Amino acid sequence: NLVSIILTKLTPWRNTSVSVSLSLSSLPHETLPLEIATKLFLDTTSIQTASTDFGKLFQETPSAVFRPSTASDIVRLVKSSYTASSPFKIAARGHGHSVGGQAMAKDGVVVDMSTLVSTGIKVRWSESLGFYCDVGGEQLWIDVLRTTMEHGLAPVSWTDYLYLSVGGTLSNAGISGQSFLHGPQISSVLEMDVITGKGDFITCSKSKNSDLFYGVLGGLGQFGIITRARIVLQKAPTRVKWIRMIYEDFATFTKDQEHLISLNDHGPDYVEGYLIMKKSPANNWRSSFFSIQDESKVNSLASQCGIVYSLELVKYFDDFTMQTIDEEINEMCKGLSFKNGFIFKKEATFMDFLNRVRIEELKLQSKGLWDVHHPWLNLFIPKSRIFDFNQHVLVDILQKENRSSGPFLIYPLIRKKWDDNTSAIISEDHEDIFYTVGLLHATKSVEACNIIEDQNKKILKLCDEIGINIKQYFPRYYETKEEWMKHFGAKWSAFEERKAKYDPKLILSPGQKLFNFN
Ligand code: FAD
Repeated sequence: NLVSIILTKLTPWRNTSVSVSLSLSSLPHETLPLEIATKLFLDTTSIQTASTDFGKLFQETPSAVFRPSTASDIVRLVKSSYTASSPFKIAARGHGHSVGGQAMAKDGVVVDMSTLVSTGIKVRWSESLGFYCDVGGEQLWIDVLRTTMEHGLAPVSWTDYLYLSVGGTLSNAGISGQSFLHGPQISSVLEMDVITGKGDFITCSKSKNSDLFYGVLGGLGQFGIITRARIVLQKAPTRVKWIRMIYEDFATFTKDQEHLISLNDHGPDYVEGYLIMKKSPANNWRSSFFSIQDESKVNSLASQCGIVYSLELVKYFDDFTMQTIDEEINEMCKGLSFKNGFIFKKEATFMDFLNRVRIEELKLQSKGLWDVHHPWLNLFIPKSRIFDFNQHVLVDILQKENRSSGPFLIYPLIRKKWDDNTSAIISEDHEDIFYTVGLLHATKSVEACNIIEDQNKKILKLCDEIGINIKQYFPRYYETKEEWMKHFGAKWSAFEERKAKYDPKLILSPGQKLFNFN
């Protein structure tokens, strides 16, 4: 058949893999046009890469990997599936940094977005919009940062780590310490080009095809593949003042976090926080912030207390504000109740600060500690229950069981910075503030990973039992339709309707396990 003939020419080694010839039969050969077939890859390396992700929790093998050059290639692929007698599943793979197989497509086709070259990163200006950039959905945020910085500009909202694709983070939300001020990344998108599950190429914004626009933002890849996003830019600072303060008491720590995020123009540009415990020391992969002396001082406090909390804030500055920045910082930190003598300050370029995790990644990679299992649990928690969560989960489970290393993040976000029309799910209690908690475990052995997976499930069950109405960010522990309905709450019916409208044959992002229950 057509696919086999062409692939023999392109990949003469294909016959060496049994899985290749077996899985090939699951694609509807008769419907694949030549332009599609020449861009399908079945070699072992392509298939293996597309069968795994950053989480290393499990594998799902696709039939083929598709390497598009243009959005039209993706349109053709999706149309081929949509019109086939038995449609095949398709998953866009941005950078494969999900942890739960979300970018996998068992027996289907994984689209390797990295080969797309159409939009690139274009910085533009218009009278009505000001500065913005048009970026391909496949672009990594690090490249968006580098390119926009050449113009003295940058997006306003980030993730902690920048080697993630624009399409991948916009399908979730994209949060970090700037989100309390600017909202998640999905709050600064002006327009997108999207290829739906029917293979329609649609440009959408708040005023044009708004139903698709809102659906796709935070939509877990269910309604379309983002090939271009238009993102708001602002003048970029050149440097940052970076501060960490240590707290022994959770109530004071959260009170100060909440105070800082209420300061608006006079406040910080970034606020996060994390736990320091015996196995999760002061310096971890998020950044070697502390000097050796300061690190041992903080770690010994953590050993004495069992658990301490580090509040992290950043204030941006440039040549114009250089003279006043220290005064501003002093003013901001006045009245904060961190432990006496436990405030640590550092200065960095804006680029180095935003790209801080990469430095640690390279160190961990050299020690073989990056490419390990990542049984992560990310949650949104109502402010009114954050003390209960601290006691029952952070102290009684994480601290006591003390099972793995990895940063455990906790910081507040502001509800009104999230557009309720998007598909993104945050905590349902209508309080102004909610918290995000990221239990970013890393384990070398499968056994340890399984224990953490059980611990994560125990945490979810406990929250349910004691009525802490948490929501999973990057949801991956749901097995039934009822669980997904509960997750989406009031947004479920709109979500389901959009699926029927934009991807009626359930082709897209099967790895989310959302409409394809096992
Ligand atoms: P992939 O894993 O490739 O895909 C994720 C999902 O999006 C899949 O369902 C996929 O099909 C879909 N998808 C991918 N591309 C597209 C597209 N163009 N159009 C439509 N759907 C698409 N997240 C935060 O919010 N804040 C953080 O600070 C943060 N830090 C992280 C740090 C590390 C080290 C890692 C590994 C992850 C972090 N994340 C963070 C999580 C990250 O944002 C998500 O896992 C994101 O999905 C990863 O992007 P990706 O390009 O690798 O997506």
